[in-house]
Amino acid sequence: MKIVLFWHRRDLRTHDNAGLAAALQSGYPVLTLFIYDREILDLLPSRQDARVTFIYDQVERLGRETAAAGGTFLAFYGRPLEVFGQLLSQHEVAAIYTNEDYEPYAAERDGAVAVLAHERGAEFKAFKDQVIFAKNELLGKSGKPARTFGSYRKAWLEKAQDEHFQPYPSADLLTAGHLQALPNAPARPSLADMGFARYEQFVPAAELPAEDLVRNYHETRNRPGLVNSSTRRSVHLRFGTLSVRELMRQARELNPKLLAELVWRDYFMMLLWHYPGTATESFDVRLRQVPYRNNEDEFAAWCAGQTGYPLVDAGMRELNATGYLPNRARIATAGFLVKHLLIDWRWGDRYFADHLLDYDMSQNVGNWQWMAGTGVVAAPWFRVYSPQSQLETYDPDLAYVKQWVPEYGTAAYPAPIVDHKFARQRAIDTLRAAYRAAG
Ligand SMILES: Cc1cc2nc3c(=O)[nH]c(=O)nc-3n(C[C@H](O)[C@H](O)[C@H](O)COP(=O)(O)OP(=O)(O)OC[C@H]3O[C@@H](n4cnc5c(N)ncnc54)[C@H](O)[C@@H]3O)c2cc1C
Repeated sequence: MKIVLFWHRRDLRTHDNAGLAAALQSGYPVLTLFIYDREILDLLPSRQDARVTFIYDQVERLGRETAAAGGTFLAFYGRPLEVFGQLLSQHEVAAIYTNEDYEPYAAERDGAVAVLAHERGAEFKAFKDQVIFAKNELLGKSGKPARTFGSYRKAWLEKAQDEHFQPYPSADLLTAGHLQALPNAPARPSLADMGFARYEQFVPAAELPAEDLVRNYHETRNRPGLVNSSTRRSVHLRFGTLSVRELMRQARELNPKLLAELVWRDYFMMLLWHYPGTATESFDVRLRQVPYRNNEDEFAAWCAGQTGYPLVDAGMRELNATGYLPNRARIATAGFLVKHLLIDWRWGDRYFADHLLDYDMSQNVGNWQWMAGTGVVAAPWFRVYSPQSQLETYDPDLAYVKQWVPEYGTAAYPAPIVDHKFARQRAIDTLRAAYRAAG
């Protein structure tokens, strides 16, 4: 009897899941699975990783939900091509269903799995699930991605209709009649089986944020010292434990500013798909040869939150302690690294990649290149935020600084690592010279 395989990746939920709903409507019994991809896990700097712990908990939850519905949820620790090689030998597979993933590695991996599936007589079907518009669905008039967020957002808002936000009926379809149960299914690997130790960090519930928070979002989002200043749903969007359609429905109803931020997410994901090379290289060719200073001691001080600039230090300490950083603090820390210290944006991108629970290549690269002035869309290269003015504007009562830099204002707190005026001029001169040299 033929079956369909459904492969979960960045969509660790059974409700409102586009690809899962399609698989459950395929007419074949569905065997659902997750692969702990060694190509990714083996590169992690630590065996105590909050993201791996989070994923593990979600996979186990999916396992329980699927069992309760009468099916089997498989999990493997391995390389996707090898895992599918085995599954295609063990079962008569009509098709592999999954949801699209737009990162360069994922595109390559999925291409290889699709080839393997076709060789074995199975189809490979990927569905759009984690954004509203993907790939070539929303291009500028030139047929290329819009080069300003303003024009992208305008086109996005014009094109988006109620139907784009409708939930998929995957949860209702998750029944014994649609699922495949395997009597002798292999046990799912534990964290220890994969060489990882449990490491938990705070994650809010995978549910919609409170209505009040969303209504006030535009007033609170830039105030890192306030409790509940933003939704903190980024980790759930990253792993698909919350449906982006659901969050967007709420934002459309209650707060256009929140919707606009979610549109940024769509935009950066589309940009990375079109320009995969920007994951490691500046999009602006004129800024590929910037003589960054890349001073290792200064980088270490930035990482440790010891720059002598309290907003920057509070941000880095929060990141190190919790794996999270509010957007305003990401702007302050990133801007300081690339402009004041003139350190290559890729160093900061890497550090965030290793520490953020919500790390998402498209969002991280897009935002870092924005801050560095090197991106497809970018802040003007001569914009150098003053960390002191940022502090006065966004943390006027020092609530955020007091929380993360308790020694601020005492002799124990370091002097500024560099003078703001001097660093600002140095950044502008260096970037201007790089532009001129590039012609
Ligand atoms: C240097 C830098 C690096 C970043 N790296 C990441 C990253 O790796 N992963 C990530 O998810 N976000 C990243 N962001 C974007 C943003 O800071 C986070 O999404 C946000 O702080 C997460 O908190 P929240 O869920 O409370 O956001 P909210 O303010 O509540 O926003 C709701 C959602 O909108 C989206 N959003 C908000 N701001 C942005 C933005 N500037 N760009 C794109 N989408 C946005 C996110 O999906 C977010 O969860 C980065 C920003 C900067 C400046």
